[in-house]
Amino acid sequence: MKIIKHSIKRLLFFYHSLSILKKFLLAPLFGIIFVFPFYVFIFLNTSNMKLNMNYINSELLPLYEISCDNVLLLEKIVNDINSAVSAKEPEWINYSDKNADKIRENLKNNRSKKYNKDIKETTEAFNEYYKTVGDVSKKIIENDYRYYNIDSDTKILVNNYNKVDTLLKNLKSKTKKDIENNINSLSDNTRFILLNGNLVFFIWFLVSIVIILLVYKDIEHKIKRIVNDSKDIARGDVDFEKRLCIVSYDELGQIIKSINIFINKLHKSHKELSRAKEKLDSLYIIDRLTNVYNRIKIDEIIDAELKKQKRYDFVFSVILIDIDYFKQINDTYGHLVGDVVLKEFASVLKNNIRDVDFLGRWGGEEFIILCIQTDQNGALALAEHLKVKIEEFDFTKVGNKTASFGVATCTQNDNAKSIVENADKALYMAKNGGRNMVVSYN
Ligand code: GH3
Ligand code: MG
Ligand code: MG
Repeated sequence: MKIIKHSIKRLLFFYHSLSILKKFLLAPLFGIIFVFPFYVFIFLNTSNMKLNMNYINSELLPLYEISCDNVLLLEKIVNDINSAVSAKEPEWINYSDKNADKIRENLKNNRSKKYNKDIKETTEAFNEYYKTVGDVSKKIIENDYRYYNIDSDTKILVNNYNKVDTLLKNLKSKTKKDIENNINSLSDNTRFILLNGNLVFFIWFLVSIVIILLVYKDIEHKIKRIVNDSKDIARGDVDFEKRLCIVSYDELGQIIKSINIFINKLHKSHKELSRAKEKLDSLYIIDRLTNVYNRIKIDEIIDAELKKQKRYDFVFSVILIDIDYFKQINDTYGHLVGDVVLKEFASVLKNNIRDVDFLGRWGGEEFIILCIQTDQNGALALAEHLKVKIEEFDFTKVGNKTASFGVATCTQNDNAKSIVENADKALYMAKNGGRNMVVSYN
């Protein structure tokens, strides 16, 4: 089981490592492997048939010919001897010696091993007969039919003749049968080869078609995947975490590999681009000195919050904060210290508001806080709390500083401009009221 699994794995690996053209060539190649044993079989079979033909040509046919010849020769011998006896010419008996020699020569010259025994037996029987027929005929002629033992001698003679005649005819019929059998088997073989040849060709054709279809399906499936993935890429729906699976090492595998390399590069530049965008975004919306939002972002948030307020009736408030007598810091300690104080002031505010609120630098030494879902009381409480935290903070070189707070809560009639103006009015009142105080716009 393990060996089969291993073999299948190796075969699949071999298949995937082939180029597309070679994959298609697998069909006829597999066919050749399949058909090869049959061709070996045919080769062996035809060699056998050739041997058979040789056997017929060189042994059986000559043997059949001489067998026919011998039967005729025997008839001639009988006729010659009959003539000699009728004419009472003992010399004539010798005329048939030539034919007898021919029969002996015929039998001697044959090359068939198979019929050796029959030939030997026939030769002996013929010699026996020929000797008897000579002797008896001479006796008959010399005794002028008054030969005393004629009956028993003719009996022997007839027996001998019958034996030789039968043997010669048997040899003739046996070789004839043998030739017929051999020719029949040759024709059977030919028919067998033709029939099976057609069958093998049909199976080979079928197997080739099946292999070609399988290879085609496999390649079509892979191409579809590549096309779909390329469409995704073209649409921009690239999942950068995903790579195309390399399922083969052919040309399609190469394409998939190239696409993966392309996605890698795209991923890298996408990351760089995202980082650059983040940086650019932060540069666009963050105040460089204090690291809180700038006016651009604050305006955006006010717009968004106003929309929410209109749609869901969410309330939100704005606190505008201005550092008291900030100019003195610049004048006394210089701009650099002024900058440090601005940074520290921003971080005190940042550390004392909720995560959901937004802190921004409105301009110069003025800051703004957008208190999300916070009513007037909530915003006032927060402003009071911040006022105390600022008062308590020990600013670098400068020591304690104060700030004034203007609070405005958004109403249904407000817009982006009016809400900040309202907070500014409240801040103005706080400044006029003596600074370091929180004033709410009513
Ligand atoms: P008031 O209590 O009325 O607010 O007085 P003030 O001195 O704080 O107000 P004023 O508007 O007269 O002065 C604000 C100063 O803030 C003027 C400007 O030089 C200074 N300033 C604005 N932006 C910066 C900055 O980025 N860095 C520094 N160091 N100073 C800044
Ligand atoms: Mg000011
Ligand atoms: Mg000021």
